[in-house]
Amino acid sequence: MIRRIDHVAIVVKDIEAALKVYRDALGLSLGHIQTIPEQDVKIAFLPTGDSEIELLEPINPDSGVAKFLAKRGEGVHHICLEVDDLETTLAELAASGVELIDREPRQGAYGRVAFIHPKGAHGVLIELLERT
Ligand code: ZN
Repeated sequence: MIRRIDHVAIVVKDIEAALKVYRDALGLSLGHIQTIPEQDVKIAFLPTGDSEIELLEPINPDSGVAKFLAKRGEGVHHICLEVDDLETTLAELAASGVELIDREPRQGAYGRVAFIHPKGAHGVLIELLERT
């Protein structure tokens, strides 16, 4: 049911500062940087093989990502797993008693997404993505 890790999202205070590590020191290539106003973030996409590292910088202090940064500091925000069939995956997780944020898929940038609550995944926010 899980195809691969699609991306790992890391929340940072300042993308330019983070690129000094992830691009310049680690040598990852920068795909592009995009501001997504609906999600209140600027994102740097760093493709790595079959997956991607995404650096998230909040652009609105009231957003969920900004609150996460204020509360927990910089670090891993979520891990995204690509699935074949999001409805089936959500139904199976719910049946297993895993705490979900989204019981129904919603539209994301690359397809339909749903989140598993960190309480249901040992402290990690998990995004499930069915690419379209
Ligand atoms: Zn994501």
